[in-house]
Amino acid sequence: MARIPGLQVVRSAIDGFGVVATRRFRKGAVIADVEGVLWRAGEPRDDTWSLVLDDGVFFDMVDQTRWVNHSCEPNVVVEAGITRRGNGWAQLQALRDIAPGDELTYDYAFDAVHAVPCRCGATRCRGWIIAPGLTPPDGRSSSARSRSSTSPRSTRGPSRSPRARASRASP
Ligand SMILES: [Zn+2]
Repeated sequence: MARIPGLQVVRSAIDGFGVVATRRFRKGAVIADVEGVLWRAGEPRDDTWSLVLDDGVFFDMVDQTRWVNHSCEPNVVVEAGITRRGNGWAQLQALRDIAPGDELTYDYAFDAVHAVPCRCGATRCRGWIIAPGLTPPDGRSSSARSRSSTSPRSTRGPSRSPRARASRASP
């Protein structure tokens, strides 16, 4: 697969692998048109992590963008949707000016039931990887510091399979 210009997968200080910019992106710029595969609930899939395009409709990112980490103060937003022909699409756009070396992040915005502790390190970290305004599951501490080594990690996708949605999925 062709490498997306301006992006590089690296070991991340946030979690696992991440993606850094190798060039400057201006606020509002399209960083990448995501290569991905649309799948529906019940169909075979390749991966745990997918964007949620609609109820039961998902988009598995299959290029470098799949390693973009979550942050509660992201510098990237994902726009995604379904075309009239029924194909999925997704695009990464810069929320602010991004300099070479900056790690790209977007808000995974998990549903409450799929929330996991967040350690993105942002000043205004919500403590959980969860959509803004939602409340983490009952009975869990909101400490972002402990992370079970057995818990699933979010190293990509705005959301995990039958789960969270692209923060601003559009038609
Ligand atoms: Zn966070």
